[in-house]
Amino acid sequence: MRDEKLLQELTQLWGVAGYEGAVREFIREKAAPYADDIQTDAVGNLIVHKKGAGGAHAKKIMYAAHMDEIGFMVKKIEADGRLRVCNLGWNWTASAYNGRVRFRNGVNGVVSCEGKIEEADNKAGKLYIDIGATSKEDAKKYVDLGSPCGYLGEYLPLANDRICAKSLDDRIGCYMLLEALKENTGCPNDIYYVFCVQEELGCRGSKPAAARICPDIGVAVDITPAHDYPCDLEGSNTVDDGVGIKICDPSVVCYEGVVAAMVDCCKEKHIPYQKEVIDQGGTDASSMNLSGTGVRAGGIVVVVRYPHCQSAVASKADIEAGVDLLTAFSNYTFTF
Ligand SMILES: [Zn+2]
Repeated sequence: MRDEKLLQELTQLWGVAGYEGAVREFIREKAAPYADDIQTDAVGNLIVHKKGAGGAHAKKIMYAAHMDEIGFMVKKIEADGRLRVCNLGWNWTASAYNGRVRFRNGVNGVVSCEGKIEEADNKAGKLYIDIGATSKEDAKKYVDLGSPCGYLGEYLPLANDRICAKSLDDRIGCYMLLEALKENTGCPNDIYYVFCVQEELGCRGSKPAAARICPDIGVAVDITPAHDYPCDLEGSNTVDDGVGIKICDPSVVCYEGVVAAMVDCCKEKHIPYQKEVIDQGGTDASSMNLSGTGVRAGGIVVVVRYPHCQSAVASKADIEAGVDLLTAFSNYTFTF
């Protein structure tokens, strides 16, 4: 792997949707030596520009990877000191149950349930967080209404060069963009590497970023759920089958010319790839697609098992294939 320490560090940063500051500052520092320009916009997106060398077919490309991760926010403090929470992004109550969370100020907690977890039905209202407080007054010494928390989930190696960690969604994308930026030494195309906020709340950050940049092509760089193990999803996404080229999800139909260009890149550079079609979920490709007067959309995705919990699993080889595709696509000569 190009820089496993970088991926590990990215996954362990605290960056719940709407509160991505620590992730942004980390990425800004890593990107600065390679960028022509770096800006943070009003909603918190980090926009890293690497000017293109130009040419007759040169395009302006926006890559969007999101910095935010799912978590919870305190909405009520019970008299006994338990914290009632709402979702920041989509949480599986079953995997949150008895899991550990951390607030931005470092306060730790354990997630539990008002009744049987089997009956929580993915409703965060059924959950509560135990920070060890003995009363409402005691709890308020540590947290308050509006305090956000995220999962703890150590980065662990698994067999067959697979890895497990919290926040692979979408620190994998942040890693891929940083590595692709390092490899951009004179691409013809003008590239904006955008590290977006609040994707988990409805692809929010990429909207104003795309409006600012007005790209010719917008590519979401994200994860996608695996279908190669017994689960409630159905499809063809397989861990270790290569980087995913997005064809369609419920929020976007990718531009056929963009898909063809990605397939071309993979064939020419011998990059393992799989075509990605999902019938649940979405990515920032949708908001770029419909921004301004319309943008040709695409997606470069890594297949992940158990997304949206503290123990997501991915293949290092798939992630590296994703960086290979980003580099090839950034240098591609487009015919549309
Ligand atoms: Zn994501």
